[in-house]
Amino acid sequence: MPVPLLQALTFDPPLPRAVGEALASIRMSVAAKLAVPLHAPVAADAVMSVPGRYWAYTTPCDEVGVRTVGSWAGSTPVVTALQATDGSEAWIAEIRELWPELDLDEAGAVVTTWLDDPWAQGAYSVLMSRDPDEPSLLTTPVGRIFFAGEHSSPDWSGTIEGALRSGERAAADVVRLVRSS
Ligand SMILES: Cc1cc2nc3c(=O)[nH]c(=O)nc-3n(C[C@H](O)[C@H](O)[C@H](O)COP(=O)(O)OP(=O)(O)OC[C@H]3O[C@@H](n4cnc5c(N)ncnc54)[C@H](O)[C@@H]3O)c2cc1C
Repeated sequence: MPVPLLQALTFDPPLPRAVGEALASIRMSVAAKLAVPLHAPVAADAVMSVPGRYWAYTTPCDEVGVRTVGSWAGSTPVVTALQATDGSEAWIAEIRELWPELDLDEAGAVVTTWLDDPWAQGAYSVLMSRDPDEPSLLTTPVGRIFFAGEHSSPDWSGTIEGALRSGERAAADVVRLVRSS
């Protein structure tokens, strides 16, 4: 489960102190996305707002024939400036200015902010750089507790790749324990 939910979980017996401290030290980043349908299909493209520090893109990956514009914003100041937690209005106004050629169907706009999703409570972990030779506490099982999730993948944290690798690592650890018992 995501870091903030894991941090709030009560372990009984408690986790070893060093593991608990390592877990408590992980911060969660903030991100938001906007998706707006378009009245007509467009070419795949991307535009970055340099002063606004966010970007917008059109892509066949929308699976509706490049008929949506997506926009991604990361970090608290950027998400706050776009007023993402209040809805799509301010962000759409920014997109209109950034990319006036797009014919937006505003009524279908969707903003997603992960901070207020009770099952996520943030976007992804922010792991401090560390000595690559130092073993990560969260990759080591505690008895029969196995940690998985992007935050337990020190070299790939904050990515889908990291989440997958952590799952494979944890599953291999489970198999090892079962075979040895
Ligand atoms: C806006 C945004 C953009 C991103 N862009 C990219 C990108 O371009 N490339 C990339 O590689 N990665 C990207 N990521 C990161 C990537 O999505 C995550 O690193 C990855 O999905 C994390 O997977 P996970 O399995 O660790 O956690 P999650 O996918 O969060 O899964 C954790 C699961 O635990 C569940 N859960 C929570 N509490 C409990 C509980 N008490 N009991 C049971 N289940 C619980 C949750 O509902 C959730 O389903 C992005 C993330 C965000 C938010």
